[in-house]
Amino acid sequence: MRRQRVTVLAGGVGGGRFACGVRDLFADQDADLRIVVNTGDDMWFAGLRVCPDLDSVMYALAGVNDSERGWGRAGESERVSAEMAAFGMDTSWFTLGDLDLGTHIARSALLRSGTTLTEATQRLSRRWELGATVLPVTDAEVPTLVDVELDGHPARIHFEEWWVRHRAAIPTNGFVFEDAAAAGISAAAAEAIRDADIVLIAPSNPIVSIAPMLAIPGVRESIGASRGRVIGVAPIIGGHAVRGMAEQCCAVVGVPATAQGVGLYYGARSAGGILDGWMVDTVDADAIGPLAMGGIHARSVPLWMRDATTTRALAAAAVELASFRPLVEPAR
Ligand code: GDP
Ligand code: CA
Repeated sequence: MRRQRVTVLAGGVGGGRFACGVRDLFADQDADLRIVVNTGDDMWFAGLRVCPDLDSVMYALAGVNDSERGWGRAGESERVSAEMAAFGMDTSWFTLGDLDLGTHIARSALLRSGTTLTEATQRLSRRWELGATVLPVTDAEVPTLVDVELDGHPARIHFEEWWVRHRAAIPTNGFVFEDAAAAGISAAAAEAIRDADIVLIAPSNPIVSIAPMLAIPGVRESIGASRGRVIGVAPIIGGHAVRGMAEQCCAVVGVPATAQGVGLYYGARSAGGILDGWMVDTVDADAIGPLAMGGIHARSVPLWMRDATTTRALAAAAVELASFRPLVEPAR
């Protein structure tokens, strides 16, 4: 019998947590789990290729992430960063932990020797028993950029600079996936999405983690053509992003920061969107009716990923929703 294929589309921290829940759920079933990860946050920094979302997902699956701080490696130190600051480098706004730097240096060396990001990610992942294959959505460099005004002049800065250096505090009227059109989904990510029995959209930031993936040619097409049902999990509970700044990002693009708003923003797959089903929290059960009007089959369960048990239960509910029957059976 063919192994069950499960593919998750994920950003960094929310995506990594959810991916662990899905991995735990299928742990004793020998399923083929693939995590397709956003690369819009990736940047060249201090001469190194830094991939925040890929690393968050990899560290979470490996169990070496700093779960208290929410990002990076557990037991981290910052000796190298302190040295760089002593040399007067303008790099202190982006924390580079010593252990984390090992990842960036290894990856940069692989990329500079001609390895694709997909291959480099496989090489790095091999160190641990992740229980899943981590795949960048594309091998091309497609940074998410932010249009802002700096010192009275219009400027287009990298998303990480806006997010981390400026704490998302400078007003912006939009995110730009400038190089997306010329890029393409990687062959491995396309296959993972098209051949999946279930595609899950993690509770990740819809505007800066999921939308940058959807902007890459081939991603929407692969989701549209997937043989499996596509089920998403709302990253918003009761009108608030649980962790992170999804609310601010929604406001920038005019998407209501509600479970319903994000669900309708993704849209029904039957109408050119990406969702068959959508998980909302029990406090957002009112959204189920309006979502159904939009062609999205929604269900309410607790969406807080407090620990491994609740996260696994959330993954189980999402997988269960994938086997729903249409309310109206087709006429014979
Ligand atoms: P990032 O790339 O590191 O910002 O991480 P993601 O985009 O993958 O996830 C960040 C988003 O996940 C946050 O803005 C929240 O909206 C969402 N999130 C975080 N924790 C939870 C949780 O426990 N439950 C749900 N439903 N969403 C969460
Ligand atoms: Ca991210």
